[in-house]
Amino acid sequence: MVHRRRFLQLGSLGLGSFSFTGFTAGNTAVRKPIVISTWETGIAANKAAWNVLSKGGRALDAVEQGVMVTEASQNCCVGLGANPDRDGFVTLDSSIMDENANCGSVAFLERIKHPVSVARRVMEKTPHVMLVGSGAQQFAVEEGFPLEPQKLSDEAERSYKNWLKTSQYKPVINIENNKKQTAFAPTRFENGEWNHDTIGMVAMDAAGNLSGSCTTSGMGFKMRGRLGDSPIIGAGLFVDNEVGAATATGQGEDVIRICGSHLVVELMRQGLSPEAACKKAVERIIKIKGNAKAKEIQVGFIAINKQGEYGGYCIQKGFNFAVCYADDKNFMVDGKFLI
Ligand code: ASP
Repeated sequence: MVHRRRFLQLGSLGLGSFSFTGFTAGNTAVRKPIVISTWETGIAANKAAWNVLSKGGRALDAVEQGVMVTEASQNCCVGLGANPDRDGFVTLDSSIMDENANCGSVAFLERIKHPVSVARRVMEKTPHVMLVGSGAQQFAVEEGFPLEPQKLSDEAERSYKNWLKTSQYKPVINIENNKKQTAFAPTRFENGEWNHDTIGMVAMDAAGNLSGSCTTSGMGFKMRGRLGDSPIIGAGLFVDNEVGAATATGQGEDVIRICGSHLVVELMRQGLSPEAACKKAVERIIKIKGNAKAKEIQVGFIAINKQGEYGGYCIQKGFNFAVCYADDKNFMVDGKFLI
């Protein structure tokens, strides 16, 4: 337990010294900075975000730079190395939101390595929130983002060829964590089924401001043109600087149906903890779908509030998220589940 006086001393040592570990719910002290993100890829992403936050940087920069690590990872689940749609093209969706309710997103974007950065440019340089498809790509190129070759990564190519054998269009629960899959390619297609590929991140900086990002290749082998929740503000991501921030992963259609991340934030506004708010949102999905259908899918939410409390909840076992609030505190938490 770090006592308050010690915490103040740590704070006064300089911006690189945040390591407040004494937080408990109900404590009036605020744990900040803090960053959390979905799945195990969140550990590396949090590290990059923490690099910004621990130096007193802005949460917005942290959530952009954090998920860029995942986007750049060729052998990962997000970005140009990820699984293609059913026609063999990788199409990317991404969103970002800051403490002033500024937000930007791109969807159905091809051949651009960092969709989250394009989303940020949409937010900062256009009067719009969302650009899609060839228009988003044109904007990215005009902004100086290189057009990458239209080529699948070796892993994605292998997965796609495998999928083509059956072209089965059916979700696999928790495929992100499927231990049958290699550590370097955790979301690869196996057994003729499709999967999800996302990182969502929310953070609070030393100034107490919140931001979030969400970036994905969507479901592997999805229909061409399909969008999920990740680029939709309020569904895959929502930030309200008075209350908290939330992001989602899993079957996007069911997150969109309940405006999931917005719902989580509004529930926190009503006084629920991040975990309780995420749980209620998951309950809403299960209620709509019914137990039997809900059993066939996975959705997970994670959230933080202005006190620096964090939490997550999912439909069923297997979802986890990464939490970081100190140089030596970057760890996985298993999402609690309802079914
Ligand atoms: N939510 C994303 C989508 O539906 C996928 C995922 O989280 O893996 O596009």
